[in-house]
Amino acid sequence: MNINNIHKNVGNNLVIQGVAKVNVYNIENDVEDIVSVSEEPMNLGKIKNEIKHYIESGEYERQIEDVIKKAMKHIETIHHKVTNPAVVLDIDETALSNLKFYMDNNLHHDWQKWEQWKSGLHATAIKPVLELYHLCKKLDVKVFFITGRKNSYDDVKNTVLNLEKEGFTNFDGIFFRKGDEAVGKHKLDSRKKIEEMGYTIIANVGDQMSDLEGGYAVKGFKIPNPIYYVPFSYK
Ligand SMILES: [Mg+2]
Repeated sequence: MNINNIHKNVGNNLVIQGVAKVNVYNIENDVEDIVSVSEEPMNLGKIKNEIKHYIESGEYERQIEDVIKKAMKHIETIHHKVTNPAVVLDIDETALSNLKFYMDNNLHHDWQKWEQWKSGLHATAIKPVLELYHLCKKLDVKVFFITGRKNSYDDVKNTVLNLEKEGFTNFDGIFFRKGDEAVGKHKLDSRKKIEEMGYTIIANVGDQMSDLEGGYAVKGFKIPNPIYYVPFSYK
């Protein structure tokens, strides 16, 4: 007996194969006298549905495109006004999207599956950001990636391969995070290093405020991230 048959027969005494005889009652759900708290707390199931709608409706993509268009316009306007112009890009959810990983895991970050995902080079280029990358190449603006991914052999190899596979080829440098270094400190120190190398960072693009805080860039561009939050940490 399948579940449809059970529904059709509610109200009857049923004999379900493999189950003792049960009485199934069909009670009208019209309870009016409900005691509850004055305001329900946020609800994870509802929030996840709203986030999925934001993504699946195309709004997420549209909002990324809006910010990146502004960044491209800024780069075109300013690149010839400074010496050695450079652009900084974050990787996860900025240059590369892991959206499929999160959607397949019901927006949950499963650390074991995350390692498999990275080594499988499954992340895909965020198209407007790839377009911005090509613009930089065309204008001879240097591009440096600064990522919170760690400088382990596997992370370095898989990240570079994934970037190249998705079209981010011939970039000018990439900064990985050392050991347990704080994310904000790593991002800030890496930008400082780029400027010490003689470049002017005309645009810094990331999906977290912690990618952008602390200066060492003419302008920061924050694209949305509906899935996770990385606080700025300096210690
Ligand atoms: Mg990111």
